[in-house]
Amino acid sequence: MPIDDVCDSLPLVDHHCHGLFPADLDDERLADSLSEAFAPAPAGTSHWDKPVALSVRRWCAPLLDLPPLSSPADYAARRRALGAEEVNRRFLAAARIGTYLVDSGNRPEELCSVAEVGAVAGAPAREIVRMESVAEVVAQSGVAAAGYGEAFEAALRESIGGDVVGLKSILAYRATLNIDYGRPSDAEVEAAAGRWLAEIEQTGRVRITDQVLERHLIWTGAEIAGERGFPMQFHIGIGDPDIELHRVDPSHLTPWIKAVEPLGFPITLLHCYPFQREAGLLAENFPAVYFDVGFALNWVGPGYQRIMDEALELAPFTKQLYSSDAFGLAELYYLGALRFRTALAAALGRWVEADECSAADAERIAGLIGVENARRIYRV
Ligand SMILES: [Zn+2]
Repeated sequence: MPIDDVCDSLPLVDHHCHGLFPADLDDERLADSLSEAFAPAPAGTSHWDKPVALSVRRWCAPLLDLPPLSSPADYAARRRALGAEEVNRRFLAAARIGTYLVDSGNRPEELCSVAEVGAVAGAPAREIVRMESVAEVVAQSGVAAAGYGEAFEAALRESIGGDVVGLKSILAYRATLNIDYGRPSDAEVEAAAGRWLAEIEQTGRVRITDQVLERHLIWTGAEIAGERGFPMQFHIGIGDPDIELHRVDPSHLTPWIKAVEPLGFPITLLHCYPFQREAGLLAENFPAVYFDVGFALNWVGPGYQRIMDEALELAPFTKQLYSSDAFGLAELYYLGALRFRTALAAALGRWVEADECSAADAERIAGLIGVENARRIYRV
């Protein structure tokens, strides 16, 4: 089979995405969904003037029965005319994902549930537990500082229902990856929990950022991941303004990767942009490490091929994964899959053309990266 057809027919495992927006979006909310900034676009400009939005107009408009490159106003109006349910159904049908692994812990009040993603797509959807969300529920449970460490572990274990296949940390967003990775003592956790609980009482804001508590969280998660054989996902690189980019390079994780190696669970580095080369080398150097270039393939718009080419430069073919990192907008599940299939087919097609590999090799590599690696490590 030609490699284009191979990639086009892969039953992809989207190993990192979020829920869908279940409701219609007004013009402003739709435009804001195309931005990582917290602020509106500067006066006189629009969030539509960027690579990802251009790609939405080019590739997603036809699925709404609009001409390619329709105006943002026409696009937004047509989206509402069809209604969220129909829009979500069309894009997920076109994405043709085999299995969804859904992070259930990020702004769940705005999104549909894990099971609903599966129902809209007509495909299995399994859950990834975001550990920081569990910690933030524990902090509001009336727990005392002395009991926080144990209560967090108990709550994390309890959150692992039958559909859960992995854990996730957003350490990069909170304490950053540039930290000391030693496991904190019980006394240190108690003291840090005391400070956090007092802060919550004062400010009313519940957000785990303390480095000691984050270290406790990833070490507790590591123990459970080791027991269960769960992959642990880490947000890496590209993100909203809470990210300090120079402190979310995945190479900062190296001491921790070495420290937890004996526990034997896979560590999956999400997104990675602009550090996809660093992530590739970590995947080469450490048996536990896997990575993807999800999110980036969507957000760079027409520049997607360069990202895929860099991802394919060095890492073993058994260590790269597919994700869309779609959040809310159904377009992003579709566009992510389209970009991934197209970019992988183009790269492997070039290799076959240049006699760097056989058509059979190309087919095997595509199957590993798009489907088999994720099936193996998440056991889905
Ligand atoms: Zn995400």
